[in-house]
Amino acid sequence: MVAGAGIGGLAAALAATRAGWLAHVFEQSAQLGEVGAGIQLGPNATRLLRAWDLLPAALLQGCAPERVVARDAQGGHELGVLPLGREAEARYGAPYLTIHRAELHGLLQQAAQAAGVRTHTGQRVRAFIESDTAVGLDLDAAASPEGDALVAADGLWSGLRRQLLGDAPPTPSDHVAYRGLVPMSELPPRWRVAEVTAWLGPRLHAVSYPVRGGDMLNIVFFLEESPRAGERWGWDHPAAAARLKAGLPAVCAPLRELVERVPSWGLWVLHDRPPVAGPQEMARGRVALLGDAAHPMRPYLAQGAAMALEDAFALGRALACVEADVADLPAALRRYALERWQRCARVQRRSLRNATLFHAGGPLRLGRDLALRSLGRRVMDLPWLYGGSA
Ligand SMILES: Cc1cc2nc3c(=O)[nH]c(=O)nc-3n(C[C@H](O)[C@H](O)[C@H](O)COP(=O)(O)OP(=O)(O)OC[C@H]3O[C@@H](n4cnc5c(N)ncnc54)[C@H](O)[C@@H]3O)c2cc1C
Repeated sequence: MVAGAGIGGLAAALAATRAGWLAHVFEQSAQLGEVGAGIQLGPNATRLLRAWDLLPAALLQGCAPERVVARDAQGGHELGVLPLGREAEARYGAPYLTIHRAELHGLLQQAAQAAGVRTHTGQRVRAFIESDTAVGLDLDAAASPEGDALVAADGLWSGLRRQLLGDAPPTPSDHVAYRGLVPMSELPPRWRVAEVTAWLGPRLHAVSYPVRGGDMLNIVFFLEESPRAGERWGWDHPAAAARLKAGLPAVCAPLRELVERVPSWGLWVLHDRPPVAGPQEMARGRVALLGDAAHPMRPYLAQGAAMALEDAFALGRALACVEADVADLPAALRRYALERWQRCARVQRRSLRNATLFHAGGPLRLGRDLALRSLGRRVMDLPWLYGGSA
């Protein structure tokens, strides 16, 4: 049983089914789907899409950028370049991909359905009840299903994590993300390029890249702002545009023009949890945590969904051992947690460190820019990450 039909939950159900299990997914929303904007997937994640036969369709719907460019957000000039395209494919055996998250979610949903995953919408999982031989679910609906194991993929605000680990909710950071999409046809030619651009400035950065086969530009601004009590957040946030424009420090003319052309903005206050401290924080008994429920992270390495996909793949492999009578179920989930926790913690730490580097001012900024100019790809490439654990 899987709680949550986000990217992580659907991938987990798909991987479990491919390992020979019958997977049931319980999703609180009335309909399956993802709102939102774009997502970047490094070769560590696209390699898994290939293993699930989803890569050709993902490449058709998304884009394979030719390079990542770091630029100065104030002056607009280039600081460093990491070639992608064929080079990334040759280096890592899989491409770098940018895609709208609804399209990635749709591909996983179709694959899960075709594999025989049973999805139950409008079913919020309130709690689990674990015995030596099974796990039961307490649902809003009358039925109380029982299964061999529970994968809690219920996201950043996971109530099942609270029940399993008894820890506190995530804490708000002073970083806010503003996310928008704009048709390429409405932008000057300089934006119609197959590249991911990271615009770095003091106390802010922005990331832009094409999605929807190159028809749309995805743009996210990350600004340092004091947290506001009782903040509302989400897509089409009514105050987001005015707030972004008011809070945006001096940035180069192209970025400023771009802000004016985005029709609506979503607003997210980013939240933090300490990095995973050990395997006991990812699985206990017959219950495993996966994706943001296990290891939410700042999106500054663009790896949250990628880690959820890696989790799902590792879970599938561990579950295959039970099918083959090599391990019992709690042992298989322990194996999953042992395989995943250190890598997830490393990515969480590195994502947080990037916040300091990307938003640097003063001497740190000078050092960063010098390193990007003189070493370029050597500081931008991440073989330990893109080479993958799977
Ligand atoms: C600004 C921003 C940019 C990002 N960019 C990238 C990127 O470029 N690349 C990348 O890899 N990642 C990126 N991420 C991270 C990525 O979006 C997340 O890590 C990923 O979507 C997490 O997926 P998930 O399935 O674990 O959780 P979620 O997507 O949160 O899904 C959880 C699901 O569980 C359901 N649910 C919750 N509670 C219950 C319950 N009690 N019962 C039943 N259902 C429940 C929810 O309705 C939801 O459908 C970004 C994040 C942000 C904020």
